[in-house]
Amino acid sequence: MKITVASGKGGTGKTTIAVNLALSVEDAMLIDCDVEGPNSHIFFKEPMVKLKDVSIPTPRFDLDICTYCGKCSDFCQYNAISVVQDKLLFFEELCHGCGGCRIICPVNAISEEEHIIGTIEKGGEEELPLYHGRLNIGEPFGVPIIRELKGLAGERPITIFDSPPGTACPAVETMRDVDFCILVTEPTPFGLHDLKLSVDVIREIGTPFGVIVNRDGIGDDRVESYCERENIPLLARIPNDLEIARLYSEGIPMVKGIPRYEEMFRELFERIRGLVR
Ligand code: SF4
Ligand code: SF4
Repeated sequence: MKITVASGKGGTGKTTIAVNLALSVEDAMLIDCDVEGPNSHIFFKEPMVKLKDVSIPTPRFDLDICTYCGKCSDFCQYNAISVVQDKLLFFEELCHGCGGCRIICPVNAISEEEHIIGTIEKGGEEELPLYHGRLNIGEPFGVPIIRELKGLAGERPITIFDSPPGTACPAVETMRDVDFCILVTEPTPFGLHDLKLSVDVIREIGTPFGVIVNRDGIGDDRVESYCERENIPLLARIPNDLEIARLYSEGIPMVKGIPRYEEMFRELFERIRGLVR
């Protein structure tokens, strides 16, 4: 079973919920897909160890063969190639490594070279393996790393994915092809605004989903009313508890510091299991 924990914006407690859910169920693994800033590992003592590099194919142009026809430039939807008269400019930082220009070139002037964009690392603990990816500084596009990370699911029967925040491509990639998605929000007008954006996207993707309200008690009941109106399951409320914040600041998961939350996360998992049956 694959569950993604996502949120419309950063700082809602998404990682806290992903880590604590993964720690509360048996036979789980945790995959942090926030490749621009993975932070699930802060809750574990063991250091992360590099597993592999992730690369994408990047075009190389043989200008002795090129006829400057411009077909590669017309094809590239990311504007990574510009052909003007007898000049070809390649903007590597815009290239997504789709390989299309090489196929489209009528004179085989384009070859490919692997270009490393980041790494995958492993850590966690014996009961809960953790994987995360790191996008190299200056690389614009982390989705290939997320795809590789998602391919690691299956080592344990239950995989919890910690999604990048927002509703852009990296988050969409993490929310698709899973059994269920938890959207984490806060009970504030900003939280509701970002939640609505996430709901629009997840409905488009078609993954079943529900909402967790984190820091319950700091705002109002508009998130709850919205969920009722939209027929969205409100899965759990996590109180705005100073003890949780203190544990977080020390890198201790709340289920290890406050045992009653372990029971809460187990019940949450059972509820999700019931919803995906
Ligand atoms: S498609 Fe091939 S021949 Fe045409 S401009 Fe691009 S590299 Fe040159
Ligand atoms: S590989 Fe794809 S993204 Fe990169 S330059 Fe070629 S067409 Fe554009």
